[in-house]
This record gives sequence, structure tokens and C-alpha cells, in this order.
Amino acid sequence: MAVSAYDPENIFAKILRGEIPCKKVFENEWALAFHDIGSKAPVHVLVIPKKPYVSFVDFSARASEDEITGFTRTVGHVATALGLDEPGYRLISNVGPDSGQEVPHFHVHLLGGRRLGALVS
Ligand code: IMP
Repeated sequence: MAVSAYDPENIFAKILRGEIPCKKVFENEWALAFHDIGSKAPVHVLVIPKKPYVSFVDFSARASEDEITGFTRTVGHVATALGLDEPGYRLISNVGPDSGQEVPHFHVHLLGGRRLGALVS
């Protein structure tokens, strides 16, 4: 899949630069986690890498092993800290137009807090 150039004016880049606010849940050197503005579940948090990647395709191809490990462990840490490990949660990352990806900065949706419905509509 071709990856388009990273747009530094996308909304998550602005959040990372502190140009627009977010409801922060957690931050470390690898990632920022914040509440989704259009929450689809009792818990709906977005986890984004600090560095500029368009989507999972871009992240998985270009990020260093340290970044991939750091980011992945951060997603797990945030889920645990939010108390979601039991009874569970869902991770989603949209890639490209067919998925409906709106924001071209790689992000993972962390959804939980209720029994979630069918994955694909
Ligand atoms: P996507 O469709 O996977 O790209 O998801 C983008 C998500 O970003 C959507 O669930 C939006 O509700 C969310 N979103 C867009 N702008 C903001 C914001 O400024 N703060 C928090 N979440 C946002």
C-alpha cells in the first residue's frame, strides 16, 4: 500500500505540538494518550506515537524496534491503568480510505467499559 506524505497540519500533530488542547490520559517518550472527542464507548481513548507516521503501514515499516516496543507497551499500560484488562477491551487502527481513517497520524483506538458489538458494520 502506498503511503502518502505526512501532513504536519493534521489535528493530532497540532495536539502533539500543544497548539490545540486534548484531555490527556497518559504521556511518555513514545506516545500520548487522550480521550476521543467523539467517544463511541464509556472508555474511548486514542494512543498516538510522538513521531510522525501516517498510519500503521507507515509505522510498522519505518519505526525503530525501540519505538515499536515502546509504543506497544504504552498501549498496554494505558489499558491496564484504565482498568480495562478485565473484562476486556478492543483495539482498532484504521488504515486508509476503505477503513474510514480520518486523521492521517497513526493512532490506536482503545475502546472499553461495556460489552462491545460486532466489529464490522
Ligand atoms: P479515525 O477515523 O480512525 O482516523 O479516527 C479519528 C478519531 O479522532 C475519531 O474517532 C475522532 O472522533 C477523533 N478526533 C478528531 N479530532 C479530535 C480531537 O481534537 N480530539 C480528540 N479526538 C479527536
